[in-house]
Amino acid sequence: MYDLLIKEGRAIDPSQNIDDKLDIAISGGKISKVAKDIPAQESRQVIDARDKIVTPGLIDMHCHACGGLINICVEPDTAGVKQGVTTVADGGSTGQAIFGGFPKYVIPSSHTTVFCFLHLGSQGLSIMPELRDWEEIDLDATAATIDSNRDVIKGVKLRLVGNIMESAGVKVVKMAKKIAGKFDLPIMIHIGDVQKRVSPTLTQEILPLLESGDILSHVFTAKHGGILRSDGTVLPELKEASERGVVLDVAHGWLNFSFETARGCLDQGVLPATVSSDLTIPSLTTRTYGLTVTMSKLMALGLSLEQLIQMTTTNPARALSIEDSKGSLKPGRDADISILEILSGAWNLEDTEQEIMQVSKLISPSLTIKSGELIPPQLVAQPQPAD
Ligand SMILES: [Zn+2]
Repeated sequence: MYDLLIKEGRAIDPSQNIDDKLDIAISGGKISKVAKDIPAQESRQVIDARDKIVTPGLIDMHCHACGGLINICVEPDTAGVKQGVTTVADGGSTGQAIFGGFPKYVIPSSHTTVFCFLHLGSQGLSIMPELRDWEEIDLDATAATIDSNRDVIKGVKLRLVGNIMESAGVKVVKMAKKIAGKFDLPIMIHIGDVQKRVSPTLTQEILPLLESGDILSHVFTAKHGGILRSDGTVLPELKEASERGVVLDVAHGWLNFSFETARGCLDQGVLPATVSSDLTIPSLTTRTYGLTVTMSKLMALGLSLEQLIQMTTTNPARALSIEDSKGSLKPGRDADISILEILSGAWNLEDTEQEIMQVSKLISPSLTIKSGELIPPQLVAQPQPAD
């Protein structure tokens, strides 16, 4: 007898090349079976998923999810299970000096699975721009924090903004690479400098340092340090990085997602590997909202639903090295499942450069299954239909 059976949904699982009407059976918090016509009487509980899309639990690989520790951060469940996302990774809100609250308070109070990227700066994003001077970097303490939290910390975060980056950008990126490399972890690099202080060629200079698995955040930013040259062509260093396995991540956020940059990249064949929201308190109620709205924007820009599911399941699972338990509907994997619907209508969606695009489809969470438990959506805000 199964605990739960999801019947007749359109199952999309890029990890197994599945896109078909299939039933999914769950037992003991794990996926038991994916097949056609599993009899309803074989399960204690049955969910009718007709006209819905059933995917591995969505993964938001970059949001700011240590609510209560840092003022810009949302609660993990607000970015997570309450909006159809079963796993989130915090993109460097904390550094070693304040990381302790993360496993002690944030993770135990969340249904959503939470990982994080540890900021190279000891104070994380508690002061922005961070890394005002070298005293904020303590390599020994950072290494000790990573060493004792290997199960939570998935990489080292660094933003190409502020004082130290202005004076010694490449050197600091090398420091982050070195410390992450000690633990065989990737680095996550933020591009997009609102204050326009770092060298205009810094992004170009650091791209060759990134290896397969390292993450470039805000690939579609229109801010200083972005990946389009003045003639609109993509930096050749970016194409090379993508080809050798550097993860190009969307990380929409409050300031770093431009429809125009995205169109320019997509037209030149440069696709993101992962789609993430970079959600914070200000962007939760306008502009960004969360992962499914970010996906909806990219669907309007021409990416297919299948591509978007891959960019929010299989690909981030690999980037976070959790593909053995998450990001797939294979039997034995955690029963983290997102049931989504595609709403039809008209919505005006805004990027971070005041461009408004009217879209006719909105990807919307219908039900979240987290380790076999049913969690209905509790959205703080969503885009309002256009008049
Ligand atoms: Zn961020």
